[in-house]
Amino acid sequence: SDSRVINFGAGPSALPDSVLDEAAKGLLNFKGTGIGIAEISHRSREFVEYLNELESLIRIQLDVPPTHKILFTQGGGTGQFSAVVLNLLARHRLLHPDLPNEGRTLDYVVTGSWSKKAVDEARRLGATVNIAADARKLSGSGKLFQEIPPHDAYTFSPDPVLIYYCENETVDGVQFSHKDSAPSSFPFHLLPKSTLLPLVADYSSSFMSRNIPRLADHAVIFAGAQKNIGPAGLTILIVRQDCIVDVDAAAKLGAIPVPITMSFKALADANSLYNTPSVLPIYIAGLVLQRSKELGGVQYYEELNRRKAQKLYDTLKEGEAKGVFRGKVKEGSGSWMNVVFDVLGEGAEARFLNGAEEQGLKGLKGHR
Ligand code: PMP
Repeated sequence: SDSRVINFGAGPSALPDSVLDEAAKGLLNFKGTGIGIAEISHRSREFVEYLNELESLIRIQLDVPPTHKILFTQGGGTGQFSAVVLNLLARHRLLHPDLPNEGRTLDYVVTGSWSKKAVDEARRLGATVNIAADARKLSGSGKLFQEIPPHDAYTFSPDPVLIYYCENETVDGVQFSHKDSAPSSFPFHLLPKSTLLPLVADYSSSFMSRNIPRLADHAVIFAGAQKNIGPAGLTILIVRQDCIVDVDAAAKLGAIPVPITMSFKALADANSLYNTPSVLPIYIAGLVLQRSKELGGVQYYEELNRRKAQKLYDTLKEGEAKGVFRGKVKEGSGSWMNVVFDVLGEGAEARFLNGAEEQGLKGLKGHR
């Protein structure tokens, strides 16, 4: 509508007008039940069917194989910083019951402030962390996060509890390439040889924006809905079945007990309805993904996002040549989702932001 601006906010983010119009109808009357979506029982046939449809919209568009379950939970990406540690420590305990705790190493790839936060949480929970690569330690980085590390900068442990990376760093604007051949791709070929790799990826800010390389090789992929597919309050998990373990049996063997709402098994056994889910975000995410499917799915978005990123990076380069802008990320590591740059000159950033607002472009100011 006329009153709406172009919202560049990284998350919560803009949602399509057509989806919001439809959502308004669902708030009054969900699926012809005469009950609004925020009022209807999550155990009703209509809602359970809707949740199953959401599952298949994701499964079809991302081509998720039957080895993996798609689960819905709450607590955001931050909740998963803890949950992946606890569930995969439990799995490791069941696989190697007699190993001392010091022998249970969690490998983290640190490419920005979100993967760093995930490391902090693993350490808070008492885990032994190996930093497999740290982009701030690369020569010429000036201790900043400005590139995806080259393949020779990684050192993985032989049998880690998990191998963690953040596919798109929302604050720092660096993203792994989704092309295997690119120097900034994730180094899948360097990982320990195992068919059941404990590979964990934070896709919070790029979920459904393009395909997920080697999806089937992942143990857990997680994402909050609020960047690309809906309102905050819904967290999506894609979990390989061998990572859905009996956390209580693991606790009896000495693993850290897992709060029930964080247990992948509790969630999976209850088809994501162990307790009351975030019904309204689920509804809106379903509308967004239905629309995405009609437009051509992830392939459509990949093409669209490629063009958008190209245009923006081209403009940035032009501005750099004129001394107007300065990109913060090295070429080849830049995100398609969030582009981080400085506006050069005294007071220029404030003028840029004000000018943008006058044009109806909001949410451009980056992270403080
Ligand atoms: N990971 C990434 C890459 C993010 O961008 C964010 C949110 N900005 C988070 C994790 C944390 O997500 P949440 O706020 O949903 O806990």
